[in-house]
Amino acid sequence: MKVFVIIPAAGLGTRMASVPAGKAAKPAASKQFLELDGVPVLLHTLRAFAKSAGVSQIIVALRKPEMDAFRTRLSADAPEMLKRDLKFVEGGEHRQHSVANGLAAVSADGDDVVLVHDAVRPFVSEEMIREVIAAAQKYGAAIAAVPAVDTVKQVERTAEGALIKATIPREKIVLAQTPQGFRYDVLKKAFDEAAADGFIGTDEASLVERSGHAVAVVMGSPRNIKITTPGDLQLAEFYMRS
Ligand code: C5P
Repeated sequence: MKVFVIIPAAGLGTRMASVPAGKAAKPAASKQFLELDGVPVLLHTLRAFAKSAGVSQIIVALRKPEMDAFRTRLSADAPEMLKRDLKFVEGGEHRQHSVANGLAAVSADGDDVVLVHDAVRPFVSEEMIREVIAAAQKYGAAIAAVPAVDTVKQVERTAEGALIKATIPREKIVLAQTPQGFRYDVLKKAFDEAAADGFIGTDEASLVERSGHAVAVVMGSPRNIKITTPGDLQLAEFYMRS
């Protein structure tokens, strides 16, 4: 059994821009290229998978204009990464398209495992990677997730704000993270069906769920944050120092 890792890293970082009052928005650096401890977030993420036992190939989806610059950055800061089986593919309009391009570049057998992990979650642990791989092998599909600690409300958006429609019992809720791992045949079928139906999901599990395959949950971690807003970057800097 081989393990392939797809890292979607082609997002634009629009939620990272903080716009001072009265100023026009200017494009923010993509979150995956923000620096933590002197190197891009994406490189921290790549290193976590490169040192994980059993990973055969890592496929990174990047925006085309960023590919050469990132390769140059790797040869300067992490030449060991270029000795790995590392492939770059072009990202797409949505995260799902970026992952689909990565999946198209995978040459796997049906029972090989494909992990998908957000470039902007650099604090993934080796233990979590190992547990998702083991559960994906056992169940065909598995994700890391954390229990909800806040009370969860379903709302209706109105012009004046949100109105609560229902309270969802929090013991029925987990918050999905990545890595998400699947047997190749399970993931391929789910992506083919989603493409045929024009379905766009915000994670891979949602595609696999709608294709009728059960998805197991393994314990994620509150440290496994997705760097999305300027506040997340401050927290990431704190985790990096500690
Ligand atoms: O924007 P979002 O929160 O969905 O980003 C999650 C991950 O997906 C990030 O690592 C981002 O770079 C990636 N992404 C991508 N292609 C897109 C949008 C997001 O690879 N079109």
